[in-house]
Amino acid sequence: MTPFLELRNVSKVFGSGFLYKRHTVALDNLSLIIDADRPSVRAVAGESGSGKTTLGMILMGFLTPTSGQVLYRGKDTRRLNRDEQSGYRREIQAVFQDPFSVYNPFYPIDHVLEVPIGKFRLAHSRGEAVRLMEQALADVGLQPDETLGRYPHQLSGGQRQRVMVARALLMKPRLIIADEPVSMVDASLRATILESLRKLNREHGISILYITHDLTTAYHVSNDILVLYRGSIAEVGDVDHVIKRPRHPYTQLLVDSIPWPDLEHVWGKNRIEVSAAAKNGTQGGCKFVDRCPHAMAICTEQPPPLYQVDATRASACYLHQDAPVLPGDALNRLFA
Ligand code: SF4
Repeated sequence: MTPFLELRNVSKVFGSGFLYKRHTVALDNLSLIIDADRPSVRAVAGESGSGKTTLGMILMGFLTPTSGQVLYRGKDTRRLNRDEQSGYRREIQAVFQDPFSVYNPFYPIDHVLEVPIGKFRLAHSRGEAVRLMEQALADVGLQPDETLGRYPHQLSGGQRQRVMVARALLMKPRLIIADEPVSMVDASLRATILESLRKLNREHGISILYITHDLTTAYHVSNDILVLYRGSIAEVGDVDHVIKRPRHPYTQLLVDSIPWPDLEHVWGKNRIEVSAAAKNGTQGGCKFVDRCPHAMAICTEQPPPLYQVDATRASACYLHQDAPVLPGDALNRLFA
């Protein structure tokens, strides 16, 4: 069956500097399928610079890859006709980090909901438009009569972010890309926003791509996870397995930095020193070699492929070279 959205060998390189041309590889030959017929909540996690936001921007069509293809319903997004482009814009919606920047302070909240209704002709009358807005707000746990008609500054950060989720829902999308949607919201409100995303997945069959640096929320919200390191997949698979028993040294480092509410767990006890292998050079080898406590000679020779370490996950690390290499087109097999 044709996947809803697919990245094929996508790389994104940013250049900077006029005299001293520098290049940053934000995504490095990444392939990924998002199958909307099996809607899931998938986290994309990593530190800043891991490429996770670039991945989201490419999937939404806000950035074009330097090489590789993005396929929407089997067709290269650069070759979509007008109707297909409209479908692509409607079926993939975004929720961004800063819930305030998208609002115009001079318009009531209704404005951000009315614009897409008008643009995509979602209603035939004013009454139908109001019903759609009220339903979408109720679906994300907001009271329509306490929300419509109010101005952005009259709502809390959490409410503003839930209005953005309602706005995405109006379009009946197949995929919502939520890029750090709770990082600028009070901790006490994070759970309600994340629960509204999970509810959209459960009750409306919408796939969610949850981009975050926060493994704790990724663990609570998602079914599976993709851990990115400098533009490549370090580890991927079932979120419970990846976070409770990480098999890649980078994921182990990330998990170790989570401040668990457990006095027995010594936070940050695994110090990552630069290894001897790293000092011999990292060109062409594993990107994590300069931070990896397990680095071996082979790690500096060529990038490790993804090894399928068990039925539900794969790790790009030579520590698992006895496991079978996961074929490039088999990543989706890992997802439930
Ligand atoms: Fe460490 Fe080598 Fe595995 Fe890279 S491939 S994470 S350097 S052990």
